[in-house]
Amino acid sequence: MQSVNNFFPLLSSPSNIVVTCHQKPDGDAMGSTLGLYHFLVQLGHNVTVISPTNWADFLNWMPGVDKVLNYDANKQKAQGIISEANIIFCLDFNILHRTKNMEQPLTDAKCIKVLIDHHQQPQVEAFDYGISLTTKSSTCEMVYDFIVESGNKDKINLDVAKCLYTGVMTDTGSFRFPSTTASVHYMVAHLKELGLEHSEIHSNIFDTSLENRLRFTGFTLLNRMEVLYEYNTAVMYIYSQDLKRFNIKTGDTEGLVNYLLTILGIKFGAIVIDRDEERKWSFRSKGDFDVNTFARKHFEGGGHFNAAGGRSDATVDETMNKFKQLLPTYKQELH
Ligand code: 5GP
Ligand code: MN
Repeated sequence: MQSVNNFFPLLSSPSNIVVTCHQKPDGDAMGSTLGLYHFLVQLGHNVTVISPTNWADFLNWMPGVDKVLNYDANKQKAQGIISEANIIFCLDFNILHRTKNMEQPLTDAKCIKVLIDHHQQPQVEAFDYGISLTTKSSTCEMVYDFIVESGNKDKINLDVAKCLYTGVMTDTGSFRFPSTTASVHYMVAHLKELGLEHSEIHSNIFDTSLENRLRFTGFTLLNRMEVLYEYNTAVMYIYSQDLKRFNIKTGDTEGLVNYLLTILGIKFGAIVIDRDEERKWSFRSKGDFDVNTFARKHFEGGGHFNAAGGRSDATVDETMNKFKQLLPTYKQELH
């Protein structure tokens, strides 16, 4: 993978460009792809954003979201666009299997692939150019840097600003995680100077739940949580009948895992959710417990040092047992 600096000259000749991200895009994945989209179209490129799957409703206010193609729902059309692309940008993921059903078409595509991402252990051989920085708060911050470093700071308009702010805000836990550096705040200051209304974005993301989501949160905190003080760990487990009972949609479970770390002394929070095709784990930690390694080693996953995800084919109860049986091995690290 060559430095992204060597890619900048290619920005000046109009191309067919696809911008994509990981499956079930979150604020950072959708924000970075759309932020880059609003930049690239100004340079005269023919740009299509393709999401591997659907996404949460709370992202549907974002400028340009109506033009995002859902690969799962439009396979043929999307495959056609991918096969005609000269350049594919891969944002907010660094291993092709994070795009689920898009892995094969992306692997087969012979065009230039560019990575912009902040997750650990990138599959560098899969990309021609790119930038992988695990210290960065978000992919949105990296897209901002990409635009500035390519000499196009003047192309950051209000649409770009709204999209990039979204991912920086969601990936930093509203500017509270240690990844929130001075450069994050300088970037936000610039976006504010462009006229960004940040309160509106916070409301769009966090204050648009339906009643059922809040009741589901209450139900799970009361009935589906175990606190294992011996290991400073709290874990939640959600059955598919829970999701059905409360009519839970994509994105409604986001943020649930963060409640676990609000308990005094808890350093490790985990949640497993029974999805149709797999049991999906989310791991969060505070301080020096490395959940990226934990997820990679035991649950076919990965991510960041303090936030990672994984999966299992076992039932919720089986994978929960496995999780609990692992804890004694980590007793020292969790102390
Ligand atoms: P979340 O728990 O919010 O789904 O994910 C936490 C972080 O870990 C995100 O940055 C996400 O991209 C990453 N992540 C989630 N699931 C997986 C996975 O199965 N594999 C890898 N490599 N990363 C994951
Ligand atoms: Mn991210």
